[in-house]
Amino acid sequence: MKEKLCFEMVPESCWRANLRSALAPEDWDKVRKTAYAANGHRCYFCGAQGRLEAHERWSYDENNAVQKLEGVVALCSRCHEVVHIGRTYAVGRGDEAMEQFMRVNGCTQSEYHEALGKANEEYLRRNKIENWSIDLTWLKERGITPLVKIFY
Ligand SMILES: [Zn+2]
Repeated sequence: MKEKLCFEMVPESCWRANLRSALAPEDWDKVRKTAYAANGHRCYFCGAQGRLEAHERWSYDENNAVQKLEGVVALCSRCHEVVHIGRTYAVGRGDEAMEQFMRVNGCTQSEYHEALGKANEEYLRRNKIENWSIDLTWLKERGITPLVKIFY
């Protein structure tokens, strides 16, 4: 089954974890292009064609305070806005993100607000954890070494 479009809020102390700036340009290019090709040059969530953006997906093990890179996917700019919903509201595009979420997931406005509420709770809970460590096994498996000692 296709994965639903979802919010992926990054805990505040992890905001500086940015793969793109940590990799050699040619490595980032490889990661990015592989992600685009992996989904037939379509958005991972909605299937849109056209200009795609590379999005890093992280998981958060709250018990062990580990932020783990799970992969990089290709997203259209509208789904990318939904994924980074906090930032999107901050720049005044909350309504557009809500429309996209409802359209792609085929859901109602109240379901949107419910999902957003859950994501917010998760965000606040994870924000209480200060010292996340980073698991970059995903990169290692692809023979990629970050240029800089990642991130914190
Ligand atoms: Zn999309």
